[in-house]
Amino acid sequence: MNNRCHCGNNKNLKTIYYGRIRSGSFGKLTKNKFRIFNCNKCNLKFLEKPKKKSFYETNEYRKKFNNSSEINIYHKLHKSRIKKKIKKIGETKFKKKVVADFGAGGGTFLNNIKKNSSKTIAVEPAFFWHSYLKKKHLTFSYPEDLIKKKIKADIIVSFDVIEHINQPVEFLKNIKQILNKNGTAYIVTPNFNDILMNLIPDSFSSFNFRTAHTLYFNEESMSFFLKKSGIKKYKISYYHEMDFSNLLLWLRDKKPSGLNKLKIFDKEFENLYINYVEANKLASHLWVEIRN
Ligand SMILES: [Zn+2]
Repeated sequence: MNNRCHCGNNKNLKTIYYGRIRSGSFGKLTKNKFRIFNCNKCNLKFLEKPKKKSFYETNEYRKKFNNSSEINIYHKLHKSRIKKKIKKIGETKFKKKVVADFGAGGGTFLNNIKKNSSKTIAVEPAFFWHSYLKKKHLTFSYPEDLIKKKIKADIIVSFDVIEHINQPVEFLKNIKQILNKNGTAYIVTPNFNDILMNLIPDSFSSFNFRTAHTLYFNEESMSFFLKKSGIKKYKISYYHEMDFSNLLLWLRDKKPSGLNKLKIFDKEFENLYINYVEANKLASHLWVEIRN
């Protein structure tokens, strides 16, 4: 097999999954089977090298969002998730700061922090978002564009992006280079050791593994890639995006339900659950803070 891990290692790659994977929303599966490998050097799990070009360049990506590409629908869909993340970071952190979002999408995050910041920068490879982004933010396609223009940022966020990328080391190096002294970058990416992967790996795998995600990090592999990118000051913690109701419905129905569907559990109970999975490294996401 002509595969090599994104850390460079090509020895002792173990196939941890071979089957159909998700190619869109729940239930949409690939025709062909795909392999997911585990690298025993860095502990990264990764999708076998796709035969076609990158996800962002395919029609699939476009089609997926053209259904609801009306920008207001997009913001509505993303707003509550984004607001939770802003709250976790702390709204005052953005005050008078240059803030960049790598993988800005339609710009929901930047729109929400713009009023207190000194400048907002959107980095988004999908060109069809640029006409929206340009109205409110300095807009680029790739992090390299900022480096060429010697633009720096005090705060960089990148939510659910690094798992799509083929060259995570370059991506992280770019973040380090663009981040101002005393700046902070927040990288959020799915956690391979999510509670559902522990409880129901068989039914969760064909949903979790998807054509759009090349990389599946856990704390160990994230730490490896941060160090490999020359990043010394970082902290990895956990962030859970789903609720207890979703967990129970997954266990019952073997499919995602979205949030607050059972309406049995109060806020106090949900917080207890979320705190528990975050403290025990079973959360849906890794929350990485990088300092310069
Ligand atoms: Zn590796």
